[in-house]
This record gives sequence, C-alpha cells and structure tokens, in this order.
Amino acid sequence: MKILVYLDLQDGVPTALSRELVAGARRLAGQGGSIELALIGGDADAARNLGASRVFTSTPSPYDPVAHGAYLQGIVADNGFDLIVFGCTTSGLDLAPVLAFRNDLPLLSYCTAVRISGGTVEADSQIYGGKLVSTAEASMPAVLLVNAGTFSEENGSQAENAEIIQLPDRPQSSVRLLSANRPDPNAVDITKASRLLCVGRGIGEQDVIEEAREVADLMGGEIVGSRPIIDAGWLPKERQVGKSGRKVKPQLYLALGVSGAPEHIEGMGGAGTIVAINTDAGAPIFDHAHFGAAVDVADFLPAFKEALARKVG
Ligand SMILES: Cc1cc2nc3c(=O)[nH]c(=O)nc-3n(C[C@H](O)[C@H](O)[C@H](O)COP(=O)(O)OP(=O)(O)OC[C@H]3O[C@@H](n4cnc5c(N)ncnc54)[C@H](O)[C@@H]3O)c2cc1C
Repeated sequence: MKILVYLDLQDGVPTALSRELVAGARRLAGQGGSIELALIGGDADAARNLGASRVFTSTPSPYDPVAHGAYLQGIVADNGFDLIVFGCTTSGLDLAPVLAFRNDLPLLSYCTAVRISGGTVEADSQIYGGKLVSTAEASMPAVLLVNAGTFSEENGSQAENAEIIQLPDRPQSSVRLLSANRPDPNAVDITKASRLLCVGRGIGEQDVIEEAREVADLMGGEIVGSRPIIDAGWLPKERQVGKSGRKVKPQLYLALGVSGAPEHIEGMGGAGTIVAINTDAGAPIFDHAHFGAAVDVADFLPAFKEALARKVG
C-alpha cells in the first residue's frame, strides 16, 4: 500500500497534526507499505526524519491553494497512491475536495477512525457538526480528510533516509497572499495538555474564572472555555474548545457549567475521562461524561479546590 500525506506547515515545518497523520499513515500502510509526503513551500529537511521514503517539495513560498492544488495534481498523476491523506484544516479542506474531484476519487471527510480491509478503506466520520457519526467505505484509491487527534504522534525521529524530490517551478496562480496573521508565540497550546478544566456559561460570572484557573493549576492542567466564555472575552480564543475552537483529547476533561452542545462535544468527545458538573441532571453533557454530579458550580469549585490543595500541598 502506498500513501501520500499532505503536510500542513507552520513557519515552514510540519505541524503536530501533520506528524500525527504520518504516524497514522504508517500504521495503515503496515509492513511493506510505503509513505510519501508532500511538503510544499516549506523546509523539506524538517520532514526527512518522519519515516517516509520520499518527500516531494518545492521552493519555499506562502500557502496558495491554486499552486498547491496544481503541485498535488502533478504528484498524484505521476506516482499513483492508494490513499491521499489530508488533515481537516483550512488547507486540507481547500485541497482534498479539489484533488478528489479532479481525479474522480472518493473522498471521506471529518474522519475520526480509519480502517483498511483489502482494497477498501472504511472510516468513521463526524457529521452534522459532530452530532452523529457515520461509517462509510470506499474502494481505493481514495482521499481522506482526517480530524486532529485521530492518530497519535510517534515519539522520537524515524529513519532519516527520505529521498527529497524537488518539484518543478511554481505553477501559475491567480491567488496573491496579502498578509498572514501569526498565532501569538506565547499562546498556550491546549491540544498538548493532558488535563483540562473547561468553564461554560453555567459559571455565571467572570469572577469565577480566577478560582477556576487556580483549580486548573492545582490539577496540573490548563483552563479552557466553551464558546460563550470566549465570546464574552473572559478567556482568549486560543482556549476555546469545539467546532470553531480547538479539538482536544486530554486524559482528563473537567466540564463546569457546560451544557454539552454538539459543537462543543465535537472538540472534546474523544477525551480519556470526562467529568461533568451541571445543575441540570438532564444536560446532554452527562450523555458523554464518565463521571458527573448534578451540583452547583458555586458549591463544587471551592470544595474541590480545598480538597485538591490538601492533596497537593
Ligand atoms: C457553527 C457553530 C460553531 C460553534 N462552535 C462552538 C465551539 O467551538 N465551542 C463551543 O463550546 N460552542 C460552539 N458553538 C455554540 C454551541 O452551540 C453552544 O451554544 C455552546 O457550546 C454552549 O455553551 P455552554 O455549554 O457554555 O452554555 P449553555 O449551553 O448555556 O450551558 C450552560 C450550562 O450550565 C448549566 N448551569 C447553569 N448554572 C449552573 C450552575 N450554577 N452550576 C452548574 N451548572 C450550571 C446549565 O444547566 C447549562 O447546561 C457553536 C455553534 C455554532 C452554530
């Protein structure tokens, strides 16, 4: 089996999601399979040690959907792959459907699990904003758009023997990049935290954030929020979990005053252990929680903080 992974880049090097996809592709390809990477417009050396046999690369340049689409079309037409894997990111969502359409290939999107059986690929996909999971199969070759957190990144570097294939000159493009806004380098990456404390609208007042932050610290984790908390400006955007925020998969997710709307669950439904505190025993969050209590955050938070402080201190 031969798999091409398109690498999303940040500052020219593959993102954590890209590394997850490469690790997942390696597992899917199995013994004797081969992984090749498309690292377009970045530093090919950064992908040399990811364990692929070849890395297709171009001269460094900003992201451009037209040029990247043309590069990918050339790579696929010249080499032929059983699977072409993209992350479910802005660029993946730009490129994967176009590539599938141009080559008349099936496209499985928003994948949260992928299985191979003979010449068929089967995937679980989040649909209706994460409300439902559909399972679909397609005969290969096929294109996949995979959600963050579906595969886990491997530790350490893999073999350093990838052959670098330099692509020809940049294809013509009608797109001109005017500006790019970089994420704040000091911003916390909540996708890396193993414990998250999430505050939802049920906390009632902004003052509660400070106490919740202290509890998150005592837990050895990070504070995050549902969208209303971010919209209110009580926490920065980089701490939003959900459909329009970050997708997280911590070992522990403590949700305080979060109702469990599908758009929120889409971002954290895969957490290892979910604990919910909500006054409404019928709140949907309890359908996803492993543990929960129908109590008031105002009662829970100080008591939990005291118990944690005793344990930690
Ligand atoms: C396109 C789109 C994208 C979206 N993206 C996101 C996203 O990325 N992330 C996200 O979170 N949402 C997102 N949403 C919004 C989502 O639909 C919900 O509106 C939102 O998740 C609700 O946030 P919440 O649970 O904090 O608030 P609410 O739904 O208002 O829930 C508050 C909960 O707190 C409980 N409560 C109230 N008082 C207390 C108390 N004293 N103690 C304990 N519990 C209490 C209530 O019973 C209730 O269940 C999106 C929506 C759309 C349409």
